[in-house]
Amino acid sequence: MKTSKNKNKKVSKPKRAKSVTIINKKNIHHKYIFVIGGVMSGVGKGIAVSSIGTLLTVKGYKVNLVKVDPYLNVDAGTMHPTEHGEVFVLNSGLETDQDMGNYERFLGRDLTADDYITSGMVYKHVIEKERSLGYGGRCVDAEQVRDEIVHRLEHAAKVNKSDISIIEIGGTVGDYQNVMFMEAARVFKMYHPRDVIFMMVSYLPTPGNLGEMKSKPTQNAARQLASYGINADFIIARAATPLDKKRKEKIASACSIPVERVISAPDIKSIYDVPINFEKDYLAENLLEALDLPNAKTDSSFKDWMKMAKGIKNHVNKEVRIGVVGKYFNTGDFILSDAYLSVLEAIKFSAYEAGVKAVIDTVNSRDFENEGAKGKAQGANEGAKNAGSPVDFSKLDQYDGIIVPGGFGETGIEGKLNVIRYARENKIPYFGLCYGMQLMTIEYARNVLGLAGAQTAEIDQKAPHLIIDFMPDQKKKIAEGNYGGSMRLGIYTSKLAKDTVAYSAYEASDKIGPGSTIKERHRHRYEVNPKYVERLEKGGLVFSGRSPDGTLMEIAELPSSVHPFFLGTQFHPEFLARPLAPHPLFTAFMKAAKEAAKVKENSRTVLV
Ligand code: GLN
Repeated sequence: MKTSKNKNKKVSKPKRAKSVTIINKKNIHHKYIFVIGGVMSGVGKGIAVSSIGTLLTVKGYKVNLVKVDPYLNVDAGTMHPTEHGEVFVLNSGLETDQDMGNYERFLGRDLTADDYITSGMVYKHVIEKERSLGYGGRCVDAEQVRDEIVHRLEHAAKVNKSDISIIEIGGTVGDYQNVMFMEAARVFKMYHPRDVIFMMVSYLPTPGNLGEMKSKPTQNAARQLASYGINADFIIARAATPLDKKRKEKIASACSIPVERVISAPDIKSIYDVPINFEKDYLAENLLEALDLPNAKTDSSFKDWMKMAKGIKNHVNKEVRIGVVGKYFNTGDFILSDAYLSVLEAIKFSAYEAGVKAVIDTVNSRDFENEGAKGKAQGANEGAKNAGSPVDFSKLDQYDGIIVPGGFGETGIEGKLNVIRYARENKIPYFGLCYGMQLMTIEYARNVLGLAGAQTAEIDQKAPHLIIDFMPDQKKKIAEGNYGGSMRLGIYTSKLAKDTVAYSAYEASDKIGPGSTIKERHRHRYEVNPKYVERLEKGGLVFSGRSPDGTLMEIAELPSSVHPFFLGTQFHPEFLARPLAPHPLFTAFMKAAKEAAKVKENSRTVLV
């Protein structure tokens, strides 16, 4: 019989714990939930962790989410996006895995640098401590590594002043790369016997030829986990469809856990539905029971979450087409959505706010390079793509808005500059993020100010007009080969100029601080060269956001009287876009795109 016919219908409703209105946190110990992957990777462990974070937050608990990455990179900053997806930046400036972005979006708050741990960080610390006699001459081995992990996890809980830490161990049970973290999780339970539970996020395949969901790999993964001295208290069972009663019981008995601790997690359309789906199995109250914590009433903010989750899926059929012009795609199995994850999510939230549905197209910038463009880079097949044939820019007319997101290096740059020029001249709403702002400034210098050879020092330090250049302290670091520490990273304050597109956008979202300031996250090495600011402004480009001392250009824009939306930010607004608090600039851009779509529709009506 096919499992899909059984569905959840036959699963008896789990026991419900009584809920209290106010939690007395005085006598509550800090609790830890370790989340470990079983069977295989890529089944949504990060989203499961994020969703549990949402559920416990709306129950009134303060939660911190910790990602433990087994790789030896000290942070994610030096990794190529095609290797590991987006590099996400925290307020502190720490460059992390993209999961941290999901954590913050689901919690609706900022996490700290202590919430991200890599093997590289831990080993580096232990070795440096040993070199400076920090271990008092003792033999230093894996035990010190394990204890350093334990110490960091306890410290993260303290720094966050949270009630519950949820710790995601990267990789899957059985990997040799994460063994040290498994060992840390095991002793953690020994140190805090009443305050630690383990959860395994597993996968139940339904082989096509059988048409039946198989629980055996999950049973075996739980056994393998037990061989580390860790027994799963909960199993999140990822599968194509919901689990039926039989499979839940099978897993429960093989893994020695009550059936209500086997949580069905079928494939669903939107990640923002996952917390709602978990609640069908009363996950939050079962977790609180296992942690011996009072089951508080769910806060009304969960209603806002449910409204948003429903809204971003299917609220309107008014579509706007957004072209995201990038280069990090077409590499094997890799997909663009991972390299620009926060950008795509930010578009989604603001589309909902603007009352439209965003249809996002990925646009390869190299399709817009002219013959002979300087586009050489890594691959042999890279180079001027349109050699011999003229570029067809009219393909861009289908877009109601164009985004050039962050990036590095010279591949596809001339194509991006051409796209930006087309958007400016044809009044297509344009939003440039970091590199997208730098290129927009270069394009303006070249084509409006007539500064031929305007360039960024990132591509050609000998160019006649270095519109984008190093800052002196960065120059020194790069000369020393210190690429890991040569960027402007993390949250910085900008001062906004009144009567600008940027000011109105932030004002509309009530996001302007004292002295017309805003705070945004950065990740870049180069800046608009102060020597050219006056000329650019005289030529019509407005720098509507600057560092408080006025030296660094943070936002560039054209006035709304000249262009419907032509704005770029040196910072990355996408890192602070949250589902329940969309980013003001993305919202302003989506509203401009909505208008552009309307104009297009009207002109069509006239023609008919
Ligand atoms: N490559 C540019 C710089 O380093 C922009 C970086 C980015 O887009 N994140 O300044």
